[in-house]
Amino acid sequence: MKQFQFDYEGKKKFISNLKRIKQWCNASVVSGVLFQIYSEVLDKDMINQVCDIIKDEMPDALYMGCTTNGNILKGDKSNMPITVICTVYEYPSTKLMLVQYALDEERAREVALSLRNIIDDNPWVKSIMTYTTMRGMSMTDYCNYLGMLPSSVVFCGGGAFCQDINENAAFVFSSDGEISDHAAVFLITGGEDYYVKALHVTGWKPLGRNLLVTKADGPVLYELDGKPAYKTYYKYLNIKNDENFFANTLEFPFLYELNGIDILRAPIASTEDGAIVMTADIAENVNAKIAYGDPWTILDSVYNAAKSFQGFAPETFTVFSCAGRRTFWGDNEISKETKPFQSLAPTSGFYTSGEFMRNGNYVNQHNVTLVIEAQREGNVEDKDIASVEMDKSQFSGKVSMINRLATFIQAATEELECANRQLEISAITDGLTKLYNRSEIQRRINEKVREFEICAVNGMVKAGASLVMMDIDNFKSVNDTYGHNEGDCVLVGLSTMLKDTLEKLHPEASVGRWGGEEFMILLPDSDVEEAKNVAELLRKKFSEMTFPSAGKRTMSLGVTELIAGENSDICCVRVDDALYEAKHNGKNRVVIA
Ligand code: GH3
Ligand code: MG
Ligand code: MG
Repeated sequence: MKQFQFDYEGKKKFISNLKRIKQWCNASVVSGVLFQIYSEVLDKDMINQVCDIIKDEMPDALYMGCTTNGNILKGDKSNMPITVICTVYEYPSTKLMLVQYALDEERAREVALSLRNIIDDNPWVKSIMTYTTMRGMSMTDYCNYLGMLPSSVVFCGGGAFCQDINENAAFVFSSDGEISDHAAVFLITGGEDYYVKALHVTGWKPLGRNLLVTKADGPVLYELDGKPAYKTYYKYLNIKNDENFFANTLEFPFLYELNGIDILRAPIASTEDGAIVMTADIAENVNAKIAYGDPWTILDSVYNAAKSFQGFAPETFTVFSCAGRRTFWGDNEISKETKPFQSLAPTSGFYTSGEFMRNGNYVNQHNVTLVIEAQREGNVEDKDIASVEMDKSQFSGKVSMINRLATFIQAATEELECANRQLEISAITDGLTKLYNRSEIQRRINEKVREFEICAVNGMVKAGASLVMMDIDNFKSVNDTYGHNEGDCVLVGLSTMLKDTLEKLHPEASVGRWGGEEFMILLPDSDVEEAKNVAELLRKKFSEMTFPSAGKRTMSLGVTELIAGENSDICCVRVDDALYEAKHNGKNRVVIA
């Protein structure tokens, strides 16, 4: 594989570049030629000129291109509006195919199905690379359809964009289609000697506690933890809702787990009512964290990513990097992220507003991310392994202040979260028996009663739920005869037995300590018959236990089924009455209300 990378510097220069490539091709075995054309400008005439020259000079070559937020050439940000990358494939077994499809929300599924057919008809396919226009459609569904393609095929790509990040216009184009603002181009590559590997890097790290996305719709994030999302940014980062919002939040995108991997989502604007508009859909009910970008941490991640490609012996890299990263670094420093790859193999690509990549069973659209695809023809054993060059002196051995502070905040947050979880647990737990306390079991009963009420109002039939209440017989005498400690021992013994038995038989049950030696069980899915059997089993088991001094003890139980529409006091009184009756009728028995 041989790659030529150059900027477009006028017709004459371009034609001479192509002649040089043709010369090279004539002297070699060539299985395919691909041009990748990146244009920072939305100049259709100029783009058409480039395409026409390719068609004239090398009619068999494939070409694909898109408008971008900046072009990457030889691992560096190009200063020219149009950049051309020409890859010559040399192994006879290597196959290339290029398709362009019109794309909008309605056609998303159709596009994925066409790709599926291509893969099915061509078992040689190993990789699909796309340039896609993104405006005016949900990328979530599109990605889900693409995710159904075989996971063995590497998938990556970038969204078409343009110079001005606030501008919506963008095109893709190819040897299979005209310049279009609603289309996707797919390069399909494979063959037995063709190898491909892709990965994604962010380098952004989580900061602080989890924030629950309580209201979101498409890319609009309305509420976090039930409060206007913007307030979160203001509260934790003091970022104002003004024209600098985008620039200020870029260093602090949201990080959350989607399809099992960390995804970054950048806010692009805030609305007057305190919602935040993201660059892509954000799902409701996920936990998000604010993430921070810090040069040292990012470069470290980039270095590690480049290292992980070393053994692959890449021959070229294609990079899809977020325009947000470019804004974050500034044009003087952005190439620090791509240079390490260039030290391994020619690196080209572009800045975009959506980086696509398959991770396991899903195709994800990332933000603030660097997606890198490496390709190679032939066996690793036949290649020289280059080493990653990076000026690590800048950061080796040192860690920035922001990194240390962020680590501190993270550690402190985790400690607080852990302490909070402990507090939450102890607030609902009875100290002696470790069962739920009275208020928690009461709360669960109330909840169940409300659920029944809603079903009754809506005319829905709900499966039975029951209560079992129990009280140890003649417990006072245990205390009086053997002491309070032995009494406690009986309470703990009974509680452990209740918990263990119910965990096995009815894991959905809740068991709590109702008072001194009284306990309550809520069986949310059991009718009275089933509850009676549970009660009978528990009575028997308890009567078979032997305590150190108190020996064998018994208990009495009441059982009742919840009635839709009644309030929780009524069913609790009813089960208490049943228990009273069990006591009255001689104890050590179960009575059904
Ligand atoms: P009955 O069979 O009618 O239920 O009689 P009883 O003796 O079990 O009932 P009573 O209500 O007279 O006595 C309950 C006793 O439980 C009184 C109280 O001291 C004891 N008790 C309450 N909480 C605890 C505790 O946490 N530990 C111990 N050891 N005893 C407790
Ligand atoms: Mg008792
Ligand atoms: Mg009692």
